[in-house]
Amino acid sequence: MSPRPDLGPKPALGYTANVLERAAERRVDDAFMAALAAAGGARAYAVGGELIVLKKDANGLDPLFTFAEARSLATTAETIFLGLADGAGRFGIGLDPKATEALKGRSDLHVSDLRSIAVQGLTDNGHLSAIAEAKAMLHWHARHRFCANCGQVTRIVHGGWRRDCPACAAEHFPRTDPVVIMLAVAGERCLLGRSRRFVPGMWSCLAGFVEPGESIEQAVRRETLEEAGIACGRVSYFASQPWPFPMSLMIGCHAEALSFELAVDRAELEDARWFDREEIALMLLRRHPDGLGTPPPVAIAHHIIRAWVEDAASVPRFRSS
Ligand SMILES: [Zn+2]
Repeated sequence: MSPRPDLGPKPALGYTANVLERAAERRVDDAFMAALAAAGGARAYAVGGELIVLKKDANGLDPLFTFAEARSLATTAETIFLGLADGAGRFGIGLDPKATEALKGRSDLHVSDLRSIAVQGLTDNGHLSAIAEAKAMLHWHARHRFCANCGQVTRIVHGGWRRDCPACAAEHFPRTDPVVIMLAVAGERCLLGRSRRFVPGMWSCLAGFVEPGESIEQAVRRETLEEAGIACGRVSYFASQPWPFPMSLMIGCHAEALSFELAVDRAELEDARWFDREEIALMLLRRHPDGLGTPPPVAIAHHIIRAWVEDAASVPRFRSS
């Protein structure tokens, strides 16, 4: 066992610091929802597809708009109740994506995708989480305007947390897609892969959607076998993270590798390979001699990898076979 590398202070995991009180029990109260939206303290995040609109002010960038401000930006779609902040309503307002793109030319606004806003730290983690909630919800509404059962136009109810079909009475609820993201480990080595979408030099955990009828553990084993040809035994849950691209829940795990011969699925991955602990530490510290690196701290992959490198108490000591 090599000594634990010193990786410095532990960074925050992105999108997990939601400071809003969701007040789910109040969503059914139409009068309460209307009063919240009409109150002076009501504020909204403005989301146009993948783009988030931030307001430039004397203090920097402000992601919160009054309803009047948000509605003056572009043609609007749904308005979603996100929760309460000190009793005031916080909402997400959907903007027309093309019109939002055009807002990039305005000097009083900063319009960018959420990944860039997160990585560049343009807003604090509390806002980041609320924007993630708004973005995922608005994405769901944009794709569920018609009843999946009978095809009729559905109507939004409960502050945006349900859509009802007036024709067949079906009730449709917003979904989140579970994704397993895992680090297969064998003693002093771990398995990382590269997607063709990644920036040059970046390696990360393997990941994939959980299929219907499958447990988290089974999904971890299936995805690792499919993508890299590696069989896994024990699976240990680490942490989870909402991932609004477009509406996923990342379920972070460590897995015990039982085989070592790689068979990379080149349709899924550009490459996959084993890394030893020292090399991974250099990648986390951005000091790798070949410029290889891991995803930034906003992503759960960074934390899954770091926990293993630091031999954190939360990571079981899988024996190498
Ligand atoms: Zn219907």
